[in-house]
Amino acid sequence: MDDVPVLYLTQPKAVRLMNTVWADRTSVHDSLETLGHLQLWAERAGIGDGQLDESDLALARELRDALRRLAADATHDDRRGAVSADVEIETAVAVTNSFLADCTPVLRHEGQGFSRGWQEDGASPFRRELAALALEGADLLAGQGLRACGGPGCVLYFHRSHSRREWCSAECGNRARVARHYQRKRDPA
Ligand SMILES: [Zn+2]
Repeated sequence: MDDVPVLYLTQPKAVRLMNTVWADRTSVHDSLETLGHLQLWAERAGIGDGQLDESDLALARELRDALRRLAADATHDDRRGAVSADVEIETAVAVTNSFLADCTPVLRHEGQGFSRGWQEDGASPFRRELAALALEGADLLAGQGLRACGGPGCVLYFHRSHSRREWCSAECGNRARVARHYQRKRDPA
């Protein structure tokens, strides 16, 4: 299915990149498998200029996998299906840092005001967007608000700023409550 879940538009883009790996009742899905996926995802996230190619897809997947691996570590994630065991933590840190190092943000004085742009270093616009996502991801990882969803079978991450919620969505919260209810019936204390 050529689709990307669009449940989490209020989440930071770095989290939305992580959540291109998602699960339904039957299996785990990857919404960044094809260039078509990436174009759809980037369009919905409002990044890039639509001119994407296979190398952009490889870069986006590399950053996504690194951020997911680091998020798993940051959230003490032990969910089956969520954690990719084949990326080492140190590798994921190095990958994230390579995105950060590639693009240098600059402040420019233009006429009456200022604008924040990027140093002209030959990086493509999409590569710079990925650098911005890597930076946002690094801030989230270094902060306190990143969570792994506690919904049954869910593999998503989310950022909570104030609330104490434990689930990425109301649906996952409901499924978690139902699962607890049946568990209590099965194993009465
Ligand atoms: Zn969830």
